[in-house]
Amino acid sequence: MKQELIHILTDLVAINSVNPGLSKAGQGEHEIAEFIHHYFRKLNIPSNIHSIQVDRSNTTALLEGKNPAKILLMNGHIDTVGIEGMKEPFTLRKDEDRLYGRGTYDMLAGCTVQMGLAKYFSQNPPPLSLAFTFVADEENLSMGMEHLVDHFLPTLPVKPFLGIFMEPTEEAIGISHKGYTWYELKIEGLAAHGSRPEEGINAIFPLASALQELDMINQELSKETPHPYLGHATLHPGLVQGGSAQSVIAAEATLNWERRTLPGESQEKLDSELNRVKIAVENAQGDHQVSVKQLFSRPPNEAGDDEIIQKLCAAAGGKKYDGMSYWADSALASKAGIPSILFGPAGHGAHAIDEWVSEKSLVNCYEAMKKFILEL
Ligand SMILES: [Zn+2]
Repeated sequence: MKQELIHILTDLVAINSVNPGLSKAGQGEHEIAEFIHHYFRKLNIPSNIHSIQVDRSNTTALLEGKNPAKILLMNGHIDTVGIEGMKEPFTLRKDEDRLYGRGTYDMLAGCTVQMGLAKYFSQNPPPLSLAFTFVADEENLSMGMEHLVDHFLPTLPVKPFLGIFMEPTEEAIGISHKGYTWYELKIEGLAAHGSRPEEGINAIFPLASALQELDMINQELSKETPHPYLGHATLHPGLVQGGSAQSVIAAEATLNWERRTLPGESQEKLDSELNRVKIAVENAQGDHQVSVKQLFSRPPNEAGDDEIIQKLCAAAGGKKYDGMSYWADSALASKAGIPSILFGPAGHGAHAIDEWVSEKSLVNCYEAMKKFILEL
């Protein structure tokens, strides 16, 4: 099976599936979605392409098992980040155990595992039905996963009892990950000549109060009881903009920050933090106006430590549970009522120029998933 898996991964890496929302090199996920669709058709597994936008597509396939009333959902994202600075991003290069190439680790290897499993179970009917899903745009706005939740999941005869997202987890069972929320604070002042500040209202000075308050909140978060797998919630200012010229009293300033959220944190808590920042700026000296808003939010994800997950753990050779620092599409499946976890191979260089996945780990993940499914 090892050669077959390497063969599939080589083919997937060779197709440019760079997310066009992130990089000019991106041509979208339609070509890779087509490729996967044809692979499933050759195996005689019913498969569909779902067009989300021009050049942006998902592929799904449903292999009916002996018990069609039970469905396991598997998922991988088929987009990759950009290729800037990489010599041969679309050529799989093997160096001992390392398989180099854009997307090998994050997460075409996970997609490869799904395709390998499809091949095996197309010849050996599985005990339950298997939903294979490949989605676009996870690296940016998760349009693919949102489309899957709205347009594919409702077509299934029953709701999957578990989702396994084959993101790289170093073979750990990723039972939780953080969510995130983006905020924007806008300060409005009045422009004036730099030599006559008394005629204007400076919109940049009050930013200091916002940053001070954010720093204080961040310090408070670091003192809360840590989540067993995810540690502490955090926040950081990510963008600052403002002013029009060095010699002008700034009429406007904007601050954007990101708050990484833990499972169980309430919206009220987040709202009260936002309010604290707003009040701090309002109380800062000057006649400025301040407004705040929440721009975007993705939920955290947490699965319970139940019998099924313990089974996967055992099939993977007694791997440990872990929390993932990054956000993943699994949160959207959980939100749609499918408890979801992460499980995938070891490697290095997600979003970096020296991305590789371990060949041995790729095979391990395939074998673990096969064993797990056979025991369901
Ligand atoms: Zn990923």
